[in-house]
Amino acid sequence: MAFGLNLGVSLPVWASDRWLLIGGCAASIAVSAAVIKSYLSLRAPRGYRKVKWQPPPPDAEDMTRYAYKAARLPKDPIDYIIIGSGMGGLWLAAALSKCGYRVVVLEQHYIAGGCCHVFTDKGATFDTGIHYIGDKQLADSLMRLVGDAEHPVPWQQMGRENEDTRARDGTGKGLYDIIKFGEQEIRLRAGKEAFVSEMTRHMRPQLVSDWLETVHRAAKSNGMVAISKAFSPIVQWFWLLLLGGDGLKWARKTTRQVVQELGGDLREEGILAGQCLDFGEAPNTASFTVQANITRHYLHGAYFPVGGPLRFVETLISTIHKAGNRVFVRAKVDKILVNKGVAEGVELSGGDVLRSRRGVISSVGLSATLGHLLSREEVDRYMASEAKLVKDVGEGISNVIGFGPTEGQGLDVLVSKYGNTLLDADRDAWCLISFPSAKDPKYAARHPGISTCEIIMEAAPEMFEQLNEALGGADTTRRTAAYKDVKRQLEDKFKRSLTRHFPSLQDKIVSIEVSTPLSMHHFLKRFSTYGLRHTCERAASPVPRVATGIRNLYLSGQDLVGCGWMAAVFSGMIVATHLLGYTPWDLISGRDFLHDLAKVPSPPPLAQLQKEAAEKHKDADGKGLEGSQMGA
Ligand SMILES: Cc1cc2nc3c(=O)[nH]c(=O)nc-3n(C[C@H](O)[C@H](O)[C@H](O)COP(=O)(O)OP(=O)(O)OC[C@H]3O[C@@H](n4cnc5c(N)ncnc54)[C@H](O)[C@@H]3O)c2cc1C
Repeated sequence: MAFGLNLGVSLPVWASDRWLLIGGCAASIAVSAAVIKSYLSLRAPRGYRKVKWQPPPPDAEDMTRYAYKAARLPKDPIDYIIIGSGMGGLWLAAALSKCGYRVVVLEQHYIAGGCCHVFTDKGATFDTGIHYIGDKQLADSLMRLVGDAEHPVPWQQMGRENEDTRARDGTGKGLYDIIKFGEQEIRLRAGKEAFVSEMTRHMRPQLVSDWLETVHRAAKSNGMVAISKAFSPIVQWFWLLLLGGDGLKWARKTTRQVVQELGGDLREEGILAGQCLDFGEAPNTASFTVQANITRHYLHGAYFPVGGPLRFVETLISTIHKAGNRVFVRAKVDKILVNKGVAEGVELSGGDVLRSRRGVISSVGLSATLGHLLSREEVDRYMASEAKLVKDVGEGISNVIGFGPTEGQGLDVLVSKYGNTLLDADRDAWCLISFPSAKDPKYAARHPGISTCEIIMEAAPEMFEQLNEALGGADTTRRTAAYKDVKRQLEDKFKRSLTRHFPSLQDKIVSIEVSTPLSMHHFLKRFSTYGLRHTCERAASPVPRVATGIRNLYLSGQDLVGCGWMAAVFSGMIVATHLLGYTPWDLISGRDFLHDLAKVPSPPPLAQLQKEAAEKHKDADGKGLEGSQMGA
């Protein structure tokens, strides 16, 4: 059979047959591609189950302080127990909630959020663990993806113009870091051009452009290393071999080595790597990957959540609650229950035992997991490589932090670097000063006439060891005179540092509250501020992975992949990738958890859920009445 094709030319019959065949094949390929594409675009995450959205528990007026009670547990069996309500735990819990899993988050503190929690003292609210977040587009989309749109998190860019910044810079726009290093003052503003123009005031333009190029290469290749944590050891090995690129090469170099290879000297190193205070590892020991991540993270500016970091916590908990899941505070886990190498649940400090069908996820940090939640035998038997890493690498720096409300306004951020002379009363230590209230445009409305300032100085844990022993351990509430003395000494130091850089604040300091590594331990169950150290050994280590030697025990939180808010959120994404069964092939072929998750329904508004619940209630009442009449 021959069909004539109206191509404007006459074709021999044999030729028109061939064209028909080719045309038919092309059409069927196009149709199949369209079908596959539309299937892919509708596809929900692996393991997805439909969520029955419901109103949050009526007795959870403040969802960040919903205390544990056995009667408040979900009625149906728990799939996953997550220990720790930092960003790594909460983001994961919200993601699993959107995928239809029964999840319970247990937090030992009286308020949820981990490093994102806030506290109120002398009429001022203090944010504890977020100075600023970069890569806003990514951060925002990660929050929107699992957060509840009814509790949105708007962002405020740091660096607003004012008289002072205009006088110094011509503009203060986008100013996010002022680094004082010796006599140098480096003012970092949003955007690559601003970065280049500021850095070239202090060094050769070629060094600046080489540095930026190297930073981009290292930060880019780190993604493959991070996602490899989702896989088993063998798959991880192949993944890194085939797709890891230069990731491990950069991880194994220190920042100092890279600066030297680029022809920079120590002065230039201090300027280029001044932001190392953000993760607490000096250039001579820091893995270049971590430094590169930080530099790139803030290159296009830094942002602060309007209303403070607790907004992150609220948007995530709202999703979790609306899915029928729970985030409990005052729920300290004493141990993870392991039976024949399988994690079955947890025991709370009050003695209650909670069991989970699919697993327990520890998001409290690696040292705290090994040191507090498992027995020595379990660690030796099942998690020896993680324990070796903690032993070899060690915990990161500890800081003392001073929180002080001051009257009037402050500048955004100022960082000064001196020697590490914390407990030496006569010498200044390096410090990082920030003014959280100045970054949050809503702060003044909440606390008129008050500004807050946060100062961080380095504290080696050894400095507090003696005190720790004298007190009888970090968990004690006993505070000796010696401890109070140290706090007073630190208070003076904070005051001196602040007024040295901001003389106008001399008479404006209302009070100072000092937090030491012991306070850090009390609240977070670790001494270090930024988790494990950020050395080459740590950055290039294949562990920790999501899965551990204990079946059904998984790890989340910043220690899984790095440091900071973004690392904690990413850890949640990597854990979900593992738990829901994504394979390397999925990722290579372009299927990943985040894209799939974007296709599933978000939590409906509260009013709609309440209306539906009321109607269901009415129906049930009606049926009950009917039934009783029929039975009568
Ligand atoms: C002072 C400071 C400033 C910072 N500044 C920035 C910044 O500007 N930008 C940035 O990106 N990052 C910053 N960070 C880091 C960032 O806040 C953290 O990396 C991130 O929030 C860590 O999240 P996480 O989930 O890993 O753990 P965490 O937030 O540490 O949460 C762990 C939680 O586990 C709980 N827990 C521990 N043990 C138990 C137990 N036995 N039972 C139940 N719960 C338990 C703890 O109470 C805690 O709530 C800062 C951190 C600090 C401390």
